[in-house]
Amino acid sequence: MPSCPRCHQSISATAVTCANCGLELKAHGHPGIELHRAQGDTYLCDSCSYHQDDTCTFPQRPLATTCTLYQDVQAAQQRPLRAAEIYTIPWWRKHSGWLLVAMLIGLSVLLVIM
Ligand code: SF4
Ligand SMILES: [Zn+2]
Repeated sequence: MPSCPRCHQSISATAVTCANCGLELKAHGHPGIELHRAQGDTYLCDSCSYHQDDTCTFPQRPLATTCTLYQDVQAAQQRPLRAAEIYTIPWWRKHSGWLLVAMLIGLSVLLVIM
């Protein structure tokens, strides 16, 4: 069971605020929006992949202590590749239906000419 980062009391995984100390645990009061929080005196941006690849446009960057979009750069690097990232379908396989139709038309034309 997760615990509150401030008072360390056990909390529900869907709790929006800590029942003990009132710390905001989810963003915008919605249990489905994760609110990431920096540990100690660190900033989230230091270990965020959006800071590393310079794609973050949030005004709190690079000193964010809470963030809804935080993406741990180490977790992102260890993420297993999706099938689409490993294997790209060759062009002739993507258009095999049209190639078959073209070959049938070509064969028909050849048979008419001969
Ligand atoms: S997404 Fe959040 S944590 Fe990541 S760089 Fe932007 S402000 Fe920082
Ligand atoms: Zn608490």
